[in-house]
Amino acid sequence: MRGLLIGRFQPFHKGHVYVVKKVLKGVDELIICIGSAQLSHTLDDPFTAGERLMMIANSLAENGIEKHYYIIPIQDVNNNSLWVSHVRSLTPPFAKVYSGNTLVKRLFSEVGVKVTTPPLFNRKEYSGTEIRRRMLNGEPWEDLVPKAVIRVVKEVQGIKRIHNLAKSDKI
Ligand code: NAD
Repeated sequence: MRGLLIGRFQPFHKGHVYVVKKVLKGVDELIICIGSAQLSHTLDDPFTAGERLMMIANSLAENGIEKHYYIIPIQDVNNNSLWVSHVRSLTPPFAKVYSGNTLVKRLFSEVGVKVTTPPLFNRKEYSGTEIRRRMLNGEPWEDLVPKAVIRVVKEVQGIKRIHNLAKSDKI
């Protein structure tokens, strides 16, 4: 059985690692879709699809997970009723979707795809919004993400980027 997990992963954090590990127990292969792949360089979506792909692949390797998954970036479409077909056109066939996102759950279940919501893990801290807030305010964020994500953020000067974006937002 092949399952699909979609997220923006801005950035990929320890809650996401927990979900991937849990979901992998119930599937033969997992398709990990990077949603909103066209977005980057904004305060809500600071990292590119390529950067997020590095975060995911390196974090999973760091956690000893090296096979049975595909990582596929997916751009948004401005028509929700076409989105599932769009996702299907870019991914291997799948039988089940894993998501906690209300719209994602609605769109897949409306076309008869089985959707499961994995339990949240320390959602207060393991949250992209909280991590981006800390990055912006100079607060410690490193404990909330795998070490591989810290390396990617350093490599692409992600904190500097976020601070610059905050400045340009005020102009
Ligand atoms: P996300 O990165 O916030 O979350 C990804 C998954 O991880 C979710 O299922 C979430 O429940 C889970 N998760 C997050 N924190 C967790 C924690 N602490 N513990 C356990 N699980 C946790 O991404 P998202 O918002 O779900 O991404 C949905 C994507 O689908 C977006 O990119 C969105 O634009 C896209 N989308 C696009 C369209 C369209 O283009 N029309 C329509 C629907 C959805």
